[in-house]
Amino acid sequence: MQDPRLELQRIFGFPDFRGVQRQVVDRTLAGQRTLAVMPTGAGKSLTYQLPAAMLPGTCVVVSPLIALMHDQLRAAEAVGLAAATLTSVDENRAETIARFRDGQLDLLYVAPERASNASFRDLLSQAPLALFAIDEAHCVSEWGHDFRPDYRLLRPLLDSFPDVPRLALTATADAHTRADILEQLGIPAEGMIVAGFDRPNIRYTIQPKDNLTRQIADVVRDTRGPGIVYVQTRAATEKMAAALAATGRPTRAYHAGLDPAIRAKNQRDFVASEDMVMCATVAFGMGIDKPDVRFVAHAGLPKSIEAYYQETGRAGRDGDPSVAHLFWGAEDFARARQRIAEMEPERHAGERQRLASLGALVETAGCRRAILLRHFGEDPPATCGNCDNCLSPPRSTDATEVARKYLSA
Ligand code: ADP
Ligand code: MG
Repeated sequence: MQDPRLELQRIFGFPDFRGVQRQVVDRTLAGQRTLAVMPTGAGKSLTYQLPAAMLPGTCVVVSPLIALMHDQLRAAEAVGLAAATLTSVDENRAETIARFRDGQLDLLYVAPERASNASFRDLLSQAPLALFAIDEAHCVSEWGHDFRPDYRLLRPLLDSFPDVPRLALTATADAHTRADILEQLGIPAEGMIVAGFDRPNIRYTIQPKDNLTRQIADVVRDTRGPGIVYVQTRAATEKMAAALAATGRPTRAYHAGLDPAIRAKNQRDFVASEDMVMCATVAFGMGIDKPDVRFVAHAGLPKSIEAYYQETGRAGRDGDPSVAHLFWGAEDFARARQRIAEMEPERHAGERQRLASLGALVETAGCRRAILLRHFGEDPPATCGNCDNCLSPPRSTDATEVARKYLSA
């Protein structure tokens, strides 16, 4: 077989692998089953795209969102890979199926619900298969933050092709979720590869809310460069953008309910800007590649530690010093508990656990980074020197008591 590094250079034009990419690629080329846990931006796609190009047959990629598939498809085609999607909205299904059967595709992107479809299983048995890649693999776990029941249908399908290598990929999975992914997808424990999650250039600061708009405005005034403010409701994005305009910075709002043309323009403006503040719901950020975001501020509690890590991780992709500020209040916990109470009972234990982990993060008098990294299964030093608590150890335990009170109620 060809040398993976030379193929990486030839096909993708990258001089070398990053982090654990090589390990993941080697296992896959050797026909093994792997769970790769790598942070967003670490380059997960390449770990299946390269084997897809090198191995005979097609890599079938399971992906949860059609929009995500189309982004991936364009990226794969841009480097000259033969790729297609097979979804309910495709017009050229017959052509795609013919190309797949003939072994002309490197990559075929499908949605998980295809897995339960008998004719899809037949199709797979007629085509040469290189590997199965299961993207956003945390969707298979009820413990994950984004459970998709359709992912549960994958195991029987994968098991009908026991000799085809499997590669599951996720950015965000705590220990419990990871164990569940291994089990649900039939991957051995030694097949799990975890990449470094530390983002040493991001300084974490977490404080109770007091005057939220003023607190956020202070962050904006104190931090040069582009920033994102995550607020909790669509209406709040526009209010916050208007309030922060008083700092003299250009501001924009972003949420899923905006007119698509305006939303796209606001996003373009932000990506092009060197000083803009984007006030957004969590709908903003996925798939946005802006390396010089200098701050991310949360006006309220994020959904989970995973979400916090992912959202703050949009700061400082260029490696330069950046800050992440989170402002929280007891009412955030009350609202979260209310939301959990309205969910199906099966989800209560997992969601409560997730909320308790967030409580531990906001209430700790110790190192924030240590809590984050331990959450992702790493074993960090007790202090990082670059979070609020390490830089100025707190004296009072008021925040601790407030959080405890509202978590236990
Ligand atoms: P993830 O899915 O892990 O969030 P992606 O697969 O989208 O990350 O990759 C993130 C970016 O990193 C992409 O722009 C990709 O081209 C780039 N990238 C991946 N691997 C390498 C590499 N070995 N060298 C340089 N850039 C890379
Ligand atoms: Mg990805």
